[in-house]
Amino acid sequence: MKRDINYKMKMNNGYEIPQFGLGVYLTKSGTECINAVTWALEAGYRHIDTAKIYGNEKEVGEAVRNSGIKREEVFITTKLWNDDHGYESALKAFDKSLKTLNTDYIDCYLIHWPVKDKRKDSWKALEKIYESGYCKSIGVSNYMIIHLEELFSYANIIPVMNQVEFSPYNYQKDLLDLCNKNNIILEAYSPLTRMKKLDDPRVLPIAEKHNKTAAQVLIRWAIEHDLVVIPKSARKERIIENANVFDFELDKSDMKILDGLDEGFRCSWDPTKAD
Ligand code: NDP
Repeated sequence: MKRDINYKMKMNNGYEIPQFGLGVYLTKSGTECINAVTWALEAGYRHIDTAKIYGNEKEVGEAVRNSGIKREEVFITTKLWNDDHGYESALKAFDKSLKTLNTDYIDCYLIHWPVKDKRKDSWKALEKIYESGYCKSIGVSNYMIIHLEELFSYANIIPVMNQVEFSPYNYQKDLLDLCNKNNIILEAYSPLTRMKKLDDPRVLPIAEKHNKTAAQVLIRWAIEHDLVVIPKSARKERIIENANVFDFELDKSDMKILDGLDEGFRCSWDPTKAD
């Protein structure tokens, strides 16, 4: 499958999202984040994934503004944190994120976590925000099948995306099928398993065969599955390495091995417990 760093996927509302982006969770506010986003934009990234809880929205906005790249060429996602759930609170939290990013609009605003008893009111707020035009797309994160099915029962707007932990070690095929069926893009977070599986002896031979690293193989696996993928790094050389995944393809035998690695592995909390 031929892809390049500029490849965009069409969302269910007609807007497009770059398939590949930079995550900035645990990227420190201040110089570290400004540098990471600047290096990423220099390397060709056009999609940055932040969140209020990451504490670096300000730096993301600043680095994008200072890059000289037109605002409309960069896709910025941020997220509603758990403390801000509820209709009025979500509206306020969105305004705050917009101000902190210091940008005219946000490309995509996500519910970060399916907070029990509050997620419905928050979704209604996101629908209102969407109508305002200050946010081009709305979506969810950490929604498992149970949460999506519940959302379908009250939503007037279907989320453009569901951002969840996803890697060969946590290959949630049923969730992916449900998202595909409903035209919701699945966005893979922690695609590098936060380094925990980068020395897997089943993956290293695939990496060697293609003259790539295990990290690049994991990113390419997500691309082959038509997922949006947002690896995080705060180091220039890794930011460049992670983007260097568009000059090779995984073949059927590679994909078979990688698809067989599922063990329900998670770096983050298990959202199935948020009932
Ligand atoms: P990743 O799987 O992207 O792993 C990041 C870790 O891998 C960092 O320690 C980084 O270190 C290291 N790393 C990066 N590139 C390489 C490489 N080429 N070789 C070796 N090590 C490497 O984990 P994240 O949890 O950060 O997930 C990515 C993004 O997804 C987040 O930044 C965030 O934007 C989003 N996310 C969303 C969540 C949600 O609830 N919606 C939850 C978690 C993540 P270093 O920086 O030193 O290079």
